[in-house]
Order: sequence, then structure tokens, then C-alpha cells
Amino acid sequence: MKENLEIVRGRLNRPLTYAEKILYSHLDNPHEQEIERGKSYLKLRPDRVACQDATAQMAILQFMSAGMPSVATPTTVHCDHLIEAQLGGEKDLARAVDINKEVYDFLSTSCAKYNIGFWKPGSGIIHQIILENYAFPGGLLIGTDSHTPNAGGLGMAAIGVGGADAVDVMANLPWELKAPKVIGVRLTGKLSGWTAPKDIILKTAGILTVKGGTGAIVEYHGPGTEGLSCTGMGTICNMGAEIGATTSVFPFNDRMYDYLKATKRQQIGDFAREYAQELKEDEGAEYDQLIEINLSELEPHINGPFTPDLATPISKFKDAVQSNKWPEELKVGLIGSCTNSSYEDMSRAASIAEDAMSHGIKAKSMFTVTPGSEQIRATIARDGQMKTFEEFGGLVLANACGPCIGQWDRKDVKKGEPNSIISSYNRNFTGRNDANPATHAFVTSPDLVVAMTIAGTLNFNPLTDTLKDKDGNDFKLKEPHGSGLPANGFDPGQDTYQAPPKDRESVSVAVSPSSDRLQILKPFDPWDGKDAMGIPILIKAQGKTTTDHISMAGPWLKYRGHLDNISNNMLIGAINAENGEANKIKNPVTGEYGTVPGVARDLKKHGTKWVVVGDWNYGEGSSREHAALEPRHLGGLAIITRSFARIHETNLKKQGMLPLTFSNPEDYDKIGPNDKVDLMCTQLAVGKPMKMVVHPADGGEAFEVELSHTFNEGQIEWFKNGSALNTMAKKAGT
Ligand code: SF4
Repeated sequence: MKENLEIVRGRLNRPLTYAEKILYSHLDNPHEQEIERGKSYLKLRPDRVACQDATAQMAILQFMSAGMPSVATPTTVHCDHLIEAQLGGEKDLARAVDINKEVYDFLSTSCAKYNIGFWKPGSGIIHQIILENYAFPGGLLIGTDSHTPNAGGLGMAAIGVGGADAVDVMANLPWELKAPKVIGVRLTGKLSGWTAPKDIILKTAGILTVKGGTGAIVEYHGPGTEGLSCTGMGTICNMGAEIGATTSVFPFNDRMYDYLKATKRQQIGDFAREYAQELKEDEGAEYDQLIEINLSELEPHINGPFTPDLATPISKFKDAVQSNKWPEELKVGLIGSCTNSSYEDMSRAASIAEDAMSHGIKAKSMFTVTPGSEQIRATIARDGQMKTFEEFGGLVLANACGPCIGQWDRKDVKKGEPNSIISSYNRNFTGRNDANPATHAFVTSPDLVVAMTIAGTLNFNPLTDTLKDKDGNDFKLKEPHGSGLPANGFDPGQDTYQAPPKDRESVSVAVSPSSDRLQILKPFDPWDGKDAMGIPILIKAQGKTTTDHISMAGPWLKYRGHLDNISNNMLIGAINAENGEANKIKNPVTGEYGTVPGVARDLKKHGTKWVVVGDWNYGEGSSREHAALEPRHLGGLAIITRSFARIHETNLKKQGMLPLTFSNPEDYDKIGPNDKVDLMCTQLAVGKPMKMVVHPADGGEAFEVELSHTFNEGQIEWFKNGSALNTMAKKAGT
């Protein structure tokens, strides 16, 4: 790191931010790489790759098709997304192991074969396992999950990518990232009372909005960082994904050292102390944008519903509930997940539950607890917090994603029934938790979740309001308290890790040809070298089109390894601008209305390519490359939007699609959902716009629209060859 930074410093001759130090010290070629924030594409060499089980299937299937004997960069796979919350931890885990056997067998054998560390179901959520075992200050990690930035709590630049990016790094290709801008968040003061680290990101999300971090790394700094626990910093970085940030990072400090020591990595802490000077920003480093937050004045916040950037301080929340007519009764409170399941979170939450029980009352709403890892589960089981939660009325779920990703067999409300839930998770898009579009999901700190759960209503502010004890007397909840790290060390719990075996040759990878969950990939066709004339718009999507709308999670998660089957969910959540409905579009061949994947399949059958027209920040949300693979598989050529979320835009390029943006965003409004377009693909060149001719469906005069793109030379090759993987295979001569 130091050596590379000397080279880069000699060239740039200016102070560097910490985020820059991490990235530039991982450059493939620090001598010649062009470096301009927000402009150049950096070719980087990450230290590690991590995949969760839903995304790992496709990443490994892609890696296999490149024909290499083992991964070139240390890689781990984590089984966390496929476990449905139903009855509680043990039973749900046993059921998942049974239902997902085929997938787990594939992952376990392919990991063994290709030298990948495999964390079995029940081990915990990827980001918690990374923080506990692999994250280190100054490191660069890529992970096939959007909340990978969690490791920024240990001073690591950890970036969420699509599976295709992970495949590049697993195959020893440098990984490409547009040099991010750096947004500085300067923290002063100290948290106290009901305010928790989560409130820092809830507040920041309110300031920056879901688009505000796009193309930037958020770098926290200032004296206020010193008082935050390592896991609290992890929470803040984790939820930075909600503002579209490339990642978020904290400078190395003593709290990180303490955490490294507690997780048996003191030598890394000592080493980091030796190089501490490089593990923070240089004096005078400049940020592209600077935000200041005084922690001493920060109020607890609740964000939502339906979007994580609608931030309301607790003092104004009651009014907001009433004026917006959000359902006042709180149906369910959920704590834990990768965002907030640290020992500190669990201890503070348990302290509130204990306080309530000391007054003879328990949770009024349903209450669930998701430990982030087996280590956390075992430690809170040993130290008593788990017992507290159970006595309080809580249901302890498996160490897995569960309700956070829609893996929730929710029974207490009917589909379509408006209701409110509050969680300590990070994301609250419509339908994410329970597939009910009428569920109003709010996100906040675990502390407020527990407090609200006791009150059973959103009309409660624990800082000012009283509750009734078992005898009907008023009392106020005490402020939460809890230790950052367990006094008796962590209990590792059950051993849930499978290391790759010495003899990997003899391992055979399990994929059944008749499987409906796994499918060996066939390479996509290369571009035909022609402009696309008179092709239809499959759907003109209106408003938010997240990756959940493009490739829904929940019940579809089980098809993540089978491209053809999962393609049946393509864009079924996107709203058709023509009729304001989801999954109802006009078939340009028959004139009848049909489902989006159905119409796309019909067009594919007729050999007709198509485009999608989308709104702002198209593809925000997760890193899943299925959202790019599916339109490619069903015959899509281009996605044309007002703007893209970064990861999705790259994913589309990797799969040989054309992500294009209106040079003039108002042109979105000029295009009718049933118009036809000519797309001048032969004009694709670095830094040059592309022309599209629109033929209105009403027979009106054709008009031209200018489209922009961010393709560089290498990425244009991906388009020409049909995909990045085809390009890799071509280069490798396979
Ligand atoms: Fe799992 Fe939710 Fe965390 Fe994603 S955000 S890794 S779904 S717990």
C-alpha cells in the first residue's frame, strides 16, 4: 500500500482522502493509470471476493464457463439468503437445508473444486461474517451483494458488485471501477441517550437521498468517529448502499483495534497501528462534497415508509404518522439483520426489553430477532440477551437474511391490507419484506424498534412519552445501554465453515440437467454488427424501477441459478407508463395485453429485439446481475433511461446490453409506450452520443433523440462480443 501510494503521490502531488488511498494503492498499474475522480476508469486488484448464496450460483456458473482450475483471488461463499423465516431459527434452518439441498450441494462442491471458502447455511449473514473474519483496514473487497460496504466499519473499502465483476476478479482480471468522487461526512460531538450509530446514516440518507451518493465513496472523518463502536461504523457503512454510494469508509481507530482483538486478529490491529498514518485521510485532503453532523445534537430518526431516504426525527414522527395517515398500529418489530445485529445492538435492545419487563409488560407487537452470525447467536445465548428476547415475546430467527429479503412466511395480515412494520434493517422498498405492497415498512435503530414494539403503536416517542406498567401506572423507558464487545469474549458457536480440501481434482460439481433451479450457461450471441431498425419498446417504465422491480426477490430467489426460469420474473414489478399497472403490457405482435416476460418471449420467438425505456436511477437497489441477464436472455438490446444506478449500468454492459441515457432527460416524456425506434448501434464509440429515431405509434412524424452512454473501449468489446465473459473466453482462447 505504502509503495503504491508513493508512486501515486508523486504523480498527483496533492493530499489524498482515505478512500483514495485504499483504491489507488490497489491499482493494477499505479505508474500509468489515469486518475481523475468521477472520470477515469480505475483498473483495480481487490484483496478478496465474497458472494452470498443467491448471487454465488450465477457467479460460479459463469466462472465455470471460463474454464479455469481455481479462483485467482481469495473468495468465500455465504449461505444466508435462502432461509425462510417461518417458525424460528432451528426449524427454519432444517427446512431450508432440505428445500435448497440441490443449490447448497452445488455451492459446496463447486467451492471445494475451485478453492473457495464455503460458509454453510446457519453460519450467518455474509457481511457479519466478513466483519468478524476477513475485513481489515486498508483492504479492498468486492462482494456480490449491495450491502458489502458494511466492512467499511473496519476501514476496508468494500464494494457491492454484480456477479460478473466477481467473476473477473476470481479469474485474475483487474476489476474496473469509475474513479469515485469522495463525499466527506465530518462527525463532531458524541452520541448519547437514545441516539445510535444508525441515526447517523438515517440522517445522511435524508440529506443525500437515494441518488445522492451515486458515483461516490462516502468517507466519514472527524473527532466524532472516535466515539463510535466498530460495529456501529459497520452499520453506517452498510446502509450507505441506500444512498447509492459506491461504498462508505471510516478511518482506522482504536475501536477497530478493539474489535480486531476481540475477533482474534490482534496482529492485524498491531500491523494497522504501525501504518496508521496511511489508514486515514491526509492533512488537507479535499472532498467533492462535505457534510457535517454534530452527534451531540443528532436526534433518533425513523425512515420510511417505502423509501429509505424519507427521514423523520423522532420528535416529528408522530405528526408525520398522523398527517400522512400511515397505519398507526405497529404490527411487527424486527431487529437484527446484517445491518444491526452486533453484540452492542443486541445488548442495548435487550436492556430496553428488560426495563419493560421490570414493569411487568412485554412486546405488544409481534417481535423477531435475527442474529447476524452464529457467533453472535451463540454469544447472546450464553450472555442472556436471547433469553430476555424470548421472555419479552420475541421469536429468534435463523442466522440469515429472512424477512429482510422477503424470506418471510408472514401470516398476521392479508395481502393488500395496509399495516405498519418497523425494522432495524436497511432497505424498505415496497413489498421487500413480505411481498405485500400495502405494508408500510420503516427502518430505524434496534433501540427504537424495541421501544415501538412495547408501545405497539407508531405514535410513541420513548424520549418524551410514558407507558402504562402492569398496574396501570405511568412510567418512562430508561435510555438503552449495552457493551460494544462481550466482556467474556465471543463464543464461536457451531463450526459452520468448510475449507477447500487439499485434493480438489477429485471433487465433482453437482448440477443435474433436469434441475429447475440450476442451469449451465450458454454464451450469448455476439452483436450482429447492424443498427436495429423499427424495434418495439417492450415497456416504458414509470417512476422507481429498482432491481426488485426488474428481478423480484422473495419466491424467485430459488431460481437464481436457472436463467430461463428466473426470467419469468423480468420487470414484473415495473409500472407501465401506458396504464399505470405492473406486468400488463401491449404485445406489439398481437396487440393483446400480456405479462412483461410473456411478451418478451413472444418477441424473442419472432426474432425481434426490443428496448426498455426507464425513468431516473433505473436499477437502484441491489447488485443482482439477474436484472441484466434476464433482459439479455429474453432478447433485449438496450435499456434507455433518464439515469442509471451504477452497479446495474455496469451489469448491463457485462451482459452485452446497451445501457443508454437520454442526453436530454425531457425526451423521456416525448416517447410513447407503443412507439417503435431505430437504434444506431453502429455509432457506439467512446465519449460520443448515439442517435435514436422514434416512430410514434399514432403515425405522427418520426423524430430524433440523442442518447448518451459511459462505455469505454474495453466495454464496447463486451457489447460486440455479446458479453464480458465471451470477451474473456475469446482472450483466453477457450
Ligand atoms: Fe441479507 Fe438483508 Fe443484509 Fe441483504 S440487507 S445481506 S438481504 S440481511
